Amino acid sequence: MKMSVLASGSTGNSTFIESTEGSVLVDVGLSCKKTDETLHQIGKSLQDVDAIFITHEHVDHIKGLKVIAKKYDIPIYANEKTWQAIERKDIIVNPEKKFLFNPMEEKDILGMNIQSFNVSHDAIDPQFYTFSKENKKISLITDTGYVSDTMKGIIKESDIFVFESNHDVDMLRMGRYPWNTKQRILSDVGHVSNEDAAHAMKDVITDSTKRIYLGHLSLDNNIKELARMSVEQILNQYDIDTHNGVMICDTDKAVPTELYQV
Ligand SMILES: [Zn+2]
Ligand SMILES: [Zn+2]
Repeated sequence: MKMSVLASGSTGNSTFIESTEGSVLVDVGLSCKKTDETLHQIGKSLQDVDAIFITHEHVDHIKGLKVIAKKYDIPIYANEKTWQAIERKDIIVNPEKKFLFNPMEEKDILGMNIQSFNVSHDAIDPQFYTFSKENKKISLITDTGYVSDTMKGIIKESDIFVFESNHDVDMLRMGRYPWNTKQRILSDVGHVSNEDAAHAMKDVITDSTKRIYLGHLSLDNNIKELARMSVEQILNQYDIDTHNGVMICDTDKAVPTELYQV
């Protein structure tokens, strides 16, 4: 499998995963045009995409959905409640392109075994996905207030993780956000901080883990270097080698990560 995080953060999320039998996107949080332009930067296009998996109905995950669903003949998967929430936003997808992928389900699609799992976030029924093929595994987990043991059990032993590292707690506390927004982000249904992410990572990293992409960084309450340093420092305390072992990688809100193969 090959993977590129096309965009990550509150302005739009989308990840491209390719297997020998086809390619998928997880979320389409960029506009249709921007998604296609970003795919071109890694030598791909929306024409190459064979399926789309939606995690939840927040706009930073579905901004491009309406136009992509209209212009392209791509099957789109989401769980039942999420489809209902999407339709309440007046995004109507042709029933022929609509597919159900409910939480804690496993499906074999395009030669990959794909598993969904719930996260703890203030959307109707948010879920993320793992993609497995021939002993290789890619797990995506962002938009969650905490990482439970159930979630850890599902994502563990991945070769690649895209892991939420949303904010630095001090930056958030001292920043300009109103009190209730701060409370929402810090709550169990908000987003995971750099520190909490690292503590969860240490429970799921194994010898097969090669890369961890830090995802969904807050524009206001985090800095790439700070996120990476905070995570590395904590992992190093647990004797996890982030220099010759697991590589901690950045993602960006607009620039795709290189297409990386596992
Ligand atoms: Zn969200
Ligand atoms: Zn989000």
